[in-house]
Amino acid sequence: MEKIPKTVEKVLWTLQEAGYEAWCVGGCVRDCLLGKEPMDWDITTAALPEETLRLFDGRTIPTGLKHGTITVLTDGAPVEITTFRVDGDYLDHRRPAAVKFTRSLEEDLKRRDFSVNAMAMALDGTIRDPFGGRADLERQVLRCVGDPKRRFEEDALRILRGLRFSATLRFSLDPATDRALREKRALLGSIAAERVWAEVSRLLCGADAAAVLRGYPEVMGVIWPELLPMIGFEQRNCHHVYDIWEHTLHALAAVPGDLILRLTMLLHDVGKPDCFTVDGHNVGHFRGHCARSAELADMMLRRVRCERVTRETTVRLVAWHDRDIPRTEAGIGHALSELGETDLRRLLAVKRADNLAQAPECRDIQREIRAGENILNRLIAEGACVSLHQLAVNGQDLAELGFHGAAIGKTLHRMLNHVIDGVLTNERDSLLRWASHELQRCEMRCEIPPC
Ligand code: ATP
Ligand code: MG
Repeated sequence: MEKIPKTVEKVLWTLQEAGYEAWCVGGCVRDCLLGKEPMDWDITTAALPEETLRLFDGRTIPTGLKHGTITVLTDGAPVEITTFRVDGDYLDHRRPAAVKFTRSLEEDLKRRDFSVNAMAMALDGTIRDPFGGRADLERQVLRCVGDPKRRFEEDALRILRGLRFSATLRFSLDPATDRALREKRALLGSIAAERVWAEVSRLLCGADAAAVLRGYPEVMGVIWPELLPMIGFEQRNCHHVYDIWEHTLHALAAVPGDLILRLTMLLHDVGKPDCFTVDGHNVGHFRGHCARSAELADMMLRRVRCERVTRETTVRLVAWHDRDIPRTEAGIGHALSELGETDLRRLLAVKRADNLAQAPECRDIQREIRAGENILNRLIAEGACVSLHQLAVNGQDLAELGFHGAAIGKTLHRMLNHVIDGVLTNERDSLLRWASHELQRCEMRCEIPPC
């Protein structure tokens, strides 16, 4: 079992010495019992907020004083201390209207979402587990503390937390919790986008994300109804053995648990149902689906307030996922120039996963992707010129030759394209010679360079 860190021990000890009960609680206890290193350590105590403030005088931040949470800065990381509390009535399926402090640990554990998250651990390793969390950990089951319907009604975010823990811990849901979670799914509509996104983004990166999406599409559909038309949509062409949704889930399972890659796989074909046509041979086509998927992905990610860089990168990869990139130095060089190394590597991972989720007869593509990757590795190792700042000449050089205004940028871009195509070498003299020629050619035709 993981050991309580020294800084946390010190806080527990300080509270206990002053005569207050103090326990590690929630996720850290769960993770300790699973033999995993906890992300953060939460402490719960009988001490009232003002008592905690007094005890750690000068080393505190009143993080959530209203809810009884104080952050203590010890020599290591900050530690959160929350007073035992009972939540008041929930008015809007989100937050309790008021919280009441209590001197009873059990009361505090009762307000927590799942039995595996409702355990406390003392300094000496004693575990308090009034709701059978340990047994559920062994059975690998998520079970609400108390009546599941009521718990989801109180705070609908617990619906998504349940799916997030199922995806990350690879636990299944207890039958009553499962039924209530599905039944109460519409309440998710009242949850703030930021809270939804915090859970969805972690769910998608979970080891069992594909299985959870497969099991609970109607819950995901409350957040993103755009996903629902993919379910059961037959593709009717020789590249596919699965409907769009099954293909999507297989592709998602074939990339590592990285948010951008998982999002790209989830959304890469979301526009397909809108683009479906059948030809005279009864073969299905999805012309324009990359652009449509990118458009929908952008809308869907904006709606959940996904951070900008993640959204933009995902949308770009979705738009590019089906583009044929020639396996030549020029082909890979142009893609590298447009996407940059990180995103081109991501794109290759996307293509690989997309193909792995297609008909087994189409797997030759894997070899092509590897060939592309080899070229990319070579270009990177050689420091190949793929961007303007790597060119052996710059705008100043062109201005000195007699180029003006917009012609400078345009000419630099043309030069870069020629270098990537292997038509020009990236040497200062030959680039300047080419540029002078261009200038002369344009002047002879009385055109504004570049012509
Ligand atoms: P992790 O930190 O690994 O994501 P966690 O279980 O610690 O998992 P936190 O969001 O840090 O999750 O919450 C800490 C604890 O607070 C939980 O273990 C749970 O006991 C309680 N908790 C958090 N959110 C809720 C909620 N919406 N309803 C009820 N209890 C909650
Ligand atoms: Mg936590």
